Amino acid sequence: MTQRPVLLVTGGSRGIGAAVCRLAARLGWDVAVNYAANRAAADAIVSDVKAEGGNAIAIKGDVGSAQDIISMFQTVDKHFGRLDGLVNNAGIVDAQQRVDEMSVERLERMMRVNVTGSILCAAEAVRRMSSRHGGKGGAIVNISSMAAVLGSASQYVDYAASKAAIDTFTIGLSREVANEGVRVNAIRPGVIDTDIHASGGLPNRARDLAPSIPMQRPGTAEEIADAVLYLLSPTASYITGAILNVSGGR
Ligand code: NAP
Repeated sequence: MTQRPVLLVTGGSRGIGAAVCRLAARLGWDVAVNYAANRAAADAIVSDVKAEGGNAIAIKGDVGSAQDIISMFQTVDKHFGRLDGLVNNAGIVDAQQRVDEMSVERLERMMRVNVTGSILCAAEAVRRMSSRHGGKGGAIVNISSMAAVLGSASQYVDYAASKAAIDTFTIGLSREVANEGVRVNAIRPGVIDTDIHASGGLPNRARDLAPSIPMQRPGTAEEIADAVLYLLSPTASYITGAILNVSGGR
């Protein structure tokens, strides 16, 4: 079993998740880097973690698949023999649409990946970390969004609703396991300059929205990673059920 604490980051291969993996390695974690499709990007993050002296593996798996989630955690068990933290980061947006234009297929995929996937991953983590299950404790950070509060009208209300579900899930799970050594918190990023906007058909979205952000700029993935690693750390030992806006005032 590895001596360093082990962190699983879903969607750890690009954007916010990749920044979390890199900073975690610098702060002494070993890292399981989950990805959906882009093996090369995941391998690059594994190399970055190793360059910081950490152990790392890339694990392919779709958090929209319950079977993939079970396999992913089994791979973590086999490779590291322990789990100390989970960052529920994998998430998707879709093309800009009004609610009255959205298909049922779109809605089901959005909820399956962003909501059901995060809940199933958290359940697997609790089975390993909670003292109720013989675990040694740990921390979960869920990546929500300011969209949960703002609603994303005429862009993707379905995405905003999925993130609001993450907020409520964070509060509920945190109270369920507070006495079992597991802390559960969430971060609401504002507009962060990553590839996710291009995947929703708006590659310039982060820069275009800058004038509407009180700080007049998008955030960086590294600024979100700083907050994630704080909430994972023992410095945050009395923080659970918190939802932290990291949004430049938005
Ligand atoms: P991103 O740049 O699009 O990266 C997404 C990552 O998630 C990639 O590593 C991708 O893997 C992985 N992924 C996508 N679908 C997956 C699935 N079904 N199963 C497993 N992994 C999957 O996204 P990001 O901007 O870093 O966003 C990360 C999180 O922050 C999301 O939950 C997002 O909603 C949230 N967020 C982002 C912003 C923002 O402005 N960027 C704002 C608020 C909240 P592949 O490389 O293999 O595709």
